[in-house]
Amino acid sequence: CFVALEGGEGAGKSTQARRLQAWLRQEGYDVLLTHEPGATDVGSRLRKIVLDPATGAISDRTETLLYAADKAEHVEAVIAPALARGAVVVTDRYVDSTLAYQGAGRALVDREVERIARWATEDLRPHLTVVLDLPPQHGLTRFEERDRIESESLAFHERVREMFLQLASAQPERYLVVDARRPVEEVEAEIRQRLEPLLEG
Ligand code: C5P
Repeated sequence: CFVALEGGEGAGKSTQARRLQAWLRQEGYDVLLTHEPGATDVGSRLRKIVLDPATGAISDRTETLLYAADKAEHVEAVIAPALARGAVVVTDRYVDSTLAYQGAGRALVDREVERIARWATEDLRPHLTVVLDLPPQHGLTRFEERDRIESESLAFHERVREMFLQLASAQPERYLVVDARRPVEEVEAEIRQRLEPLLEG
C-alpha cells in the first residue's frame, strides 16, 4: 500500500507522517516512511540546489527537471523496493507537489509537467493521497527562515493550494482532503479511518 501526504507549507505533513508510521507499526505492518525532495544521496544534493536561497535564480524548467530527477531516484532506490517487499510506504510529498509547485506555482503547462513527473516515477501512483489543506497565510507564519520556495508570494502559494484541491476533486476515490487547522489528533483519526479499508484490501 502506497500513501502520499501532500499540502502546502506548515500544514503538518511530517507530523502526520510520523504518527501514521507509529500507528502502522503498532498494527504490525512493515512501514517505510520517506519524503521528497531529498530521500536519497543524489536527492539530498538536488534538494540543496533547489532550496538553498544562495543558489539564486533557477529557470522554471530546470527546477522541474531537478525535482523530477529527485523523484526518479526516490522511486527506483527507495519506494519501489519497499513496495516490492510488501511494505506500506508513506511519503511526505510526491508527484502532486510537482504538479502544484512547478505546474501551478510556476505556471508551466500542467500537461507537460505531469508527463515529466509520470515518466520520472514510471507512473507509480499512490493508492491514497492525503491533502492537508490550509490557507497559505496560516502555514507560512510558522517559518522564520524561508527557503527559496517559501519566499514566494502568497499568490504563488494560493495557486499551489488550489492545484492540490483540484487534483483531489478530480479523483475523490484516491484522495482524502483534511482541514489542517483542526487538532492534530482529529486529522490523524480521519487519515486512519480512510486508510484502514485500503490496508485490509
Ligand atoms: O516538505 P518540505 O518542507 O521538505 O519541502 C521542501 C520545500 O520544497 C518546500 O518549500 C516546498 O515548497 C518545496 N517543493 C517544491 N516543489 C516540489 C516539492 C517541494 O517547490 N515539487
